[in-house]
Amino acid sequence: CGIVGYTGPREAYPVILKGLKRLEYRGYDSSGVALVNSELKVYKKKGKVSELEESVVGKDMHAHVGIGHTRWATHGEPSDRNAHPHQSAGGSFAMIHNGIIENYASIKQELVNKGYQFKSDTDTEVLLNFIEDIKQNNNCTLEQALRIALKRVVGAYCVLLVDKDDPETIIAARKGSPLVIGIGKGEHFLASDASPIVEYTKEVVYVNDYEIAIVRPDELILKNLGNEKQTPFIQKLDME
Ligand code: GLU
Repeated sequence: CGIVGYTGPREAYPVILKGLKRLEYRGYDSSGVALVNSELKVYKKKGKVSELEESVVGKDMHAHVGIGHTRWATHGEPSDRNAHPHQSAGGSFAMIHNGIIENYASIKQELVNKGYQFKSDTDTEVLLNFIEDIKQNNNCTLEQALRIALKRVVGAYCVLLVDKDDPETIIAARKGSPLVIGIGKGEHFLASDASPIVEYTKEVVYVNDYEIAIVRPDELILKNLGNEKQTPFIQKLDME
């Protein structure tokens, strides 16, 4: 239901945690974060964001790139294992998702026939492993695999992906579910609305439907699903 992402020089986890709390008003049943250091770490929990916070006390949360999610379950009951982020079958990348993949059942069947096993009951994990399968079959980048996958997806989505083999980058895409990117100095903030972003920067880009964003500390690249670069339209937030 809510998403937050950060890439830049700050510690990512406190930025993400604060952002998730700002998005709590939207309602949710579980929450989670994925952090990329030299490893990819995923922490997720049914219940309030404060329960996630308590469950990670004493854990190594150090990272400068991360994504966080509050979930409003549509496919699969609220539980720790259905909470986002989900990790790809190969384990190297993680994804959060707002929305619904309407044709997940047919894609899941194809993947099950190929031997994929699923750790959750979500439509999200189906899209994630679909991306992984395309990436392996085509020996392509995560960005290319995402683009190919999204051409087959029916439904609404805002997705954020992190990849332990590309540790500064967040890849995002949307159709139907909102995505705002805040532009800082050598850092970027991503969220489903501007409320987690306003305290850091007033310069934002609202990503359009069918666009993919490749976000690094110093770089924001927007492309359409045809792989053509789009010029980001930077707006000034006018908030008291
Ligand atoms: N459909 C996804 C799920 O049930 C995402 C729900 C959401 O937007 O939070 O896990």
